[in-house]
Amino acid sequence: MKIQLPVQKNDYIDVTFVDLTHDGHGVAKVDGYPIFVPNGLPGEKAKIKVIKVNKGYGFGRIIELYETSPDRVKPDCPIYKECGGCQLQHLSYSGQLKAKQKQVKDVLQRIGKIENVTVHPVLGMEDPWRYRNKAQVPVGDREGGLIAGFYQHRSHDIIDMEACLIQQEKNDTVIQTVKEICGKHGVRAYNEGTHKGTLRHIMARYGMKTGEVMIVLITRTTDLPNKKAIIDEITAQIPGVKSIVQNINTQRTNVIFGVETKVLWGEEVIYDYIGNIKFAISARSFYQVNPEQTKVLYDQALKYAGLTGQETVIDAYCGIGTISLFLTEKAKKVYGVEIVPEAIEDAKRNAELNGITNVEFAVGEAERVIPKWYSEGITADVLVVDPPRKGCDETLLQTIIDMKPKKVVYVSCNPATLARDLRILEDGGYQTVEVQPVDMFPQTTHVECVVLMSRVEK
Ligand code: SAH
Repeated sequence: MKIQLPVQKNDYIDVTFVDLTHDGHGVAKVDGYPIFVPNGLPGEKAKIKVIKVNKGYGFGRIIELYETSPDRVKPDCPIYKECGGCQLQHLSYSGQLKAKQKQVKDVLQRIGKIENVTVHPVLGMEDPWRYRNKAQVPVGDREGGLIAGFYQHRSHDIIDMEACLIQQEKNDTVIQTVKEICGKHGVRAYNEGTHKGTLRHIMARYGMKTGEVMIVLITRTTDLPNKKAIIDEITAQIPGVKSIVQNINTQRTNVIFGVETKVLWGEEVIYDYIGNIKFAISARSFYQVNPEQTKVLYDQALKYAGLTGQETVIDAYCGIGTISLFLTEKAKKVYGVEIVPEAIEDAKRNAELNGITNVEFAVGEAERVIPKWYSEGITADVLVVDPPRKGCDETLLQTIIDMKPKKVVYVSCNPATLARDLRILEDGGYQTVEVQPVDMFPQTTHVECVVLMSRVEK
């Protein structure tokens, strides 16, 4: 039987947007049937063309905006549309924060059936621009030189870029300078089609607190033409450079980094601080891209953990130990677990660098290591999780329920999996106390949350 939908493909209809999706599209409803429309904002009235219909929802395109939202602003970035890296520049910053708070509330309720919990206003940035400390750009050829920038939205054509408004200015300058110097010395860009050429990507990393710069040249070949001249010019022209590294990726792949990394000049790492903790960052280390807001996020996690110096804490999904080290200042003992061996090497090195001794790190899957610890008698008063987008493994959640830590502090970059996991923990004897969203990525649709859960005494 063919289902009769309220709209057909190619219809022109007048709508009012009632919501924003998690990827920043306006939502219009026709007899309850949702249509997702890029660039539409809640409250706006528009004529749209229906461009695709599925069984449960459709897609449309704005033909004419009749009434605009008071929160609509003109995007500052000249390449906003082509790039696609930011999705919310057409919404005022206060509008973005309100939308993110609503999104978290709605998702917790819809997916997690978490009712009546306080979702605080999102902690945003005073200046929500120029916050990223890492730039990673693909390189292309042009007559007499190189271009570097971004892949045009939904394609692999490289568009040259002079500035990215969410990027540290220093990184913009570094990319420009490195591109010019390499081009001048005859380095050709890697070509995905022919698998020829040399330079694939340029990465720039900036220690916001230290001013130290790392440059990584990702190449197809081990050989880099005119290497010495390139290094001499980079070090002469870019103040703050501490490390120039080459990473070799010989494969036909979208993955940016290859397996081999070698230092061409200077140090293997640069340093930066989050709060009082010093971090050594190597070319391949994971390090938060917005350190200013990371501090806000971790301060919140620390506050929710409510440590007095007596507690044992487990930090699952600990990465390079950022949260773990942060918590050591107030905990008796912290155990961190993480699946990537190199990240744990960094975590141990960072503990040593800061003279921190009340922490232990282990490599492995949180869902295997923590049950093993539990069986050996290691339990936690506070358990912190900061999983990737897919959320926590069910085995881990079950172990938490069995172990019964007094508090669970859940740090999440994906409200949907957060909601699912909170439901499981609630059914296992926890109560969601409060939720604090933090804006780590202004101008984009991402939203990070810290949640406090406490064990319900029975
Ligand atoms: N807490 C860290 C990193 C969080 S990102 C910080 O704030 O910097 C999530 C981390 O979980 C990543 O480092 C990823 O490698 C790790 N991870 C993914 N699956 C895992 C698993 N099953 N067990 C343990 N760690 C895992």
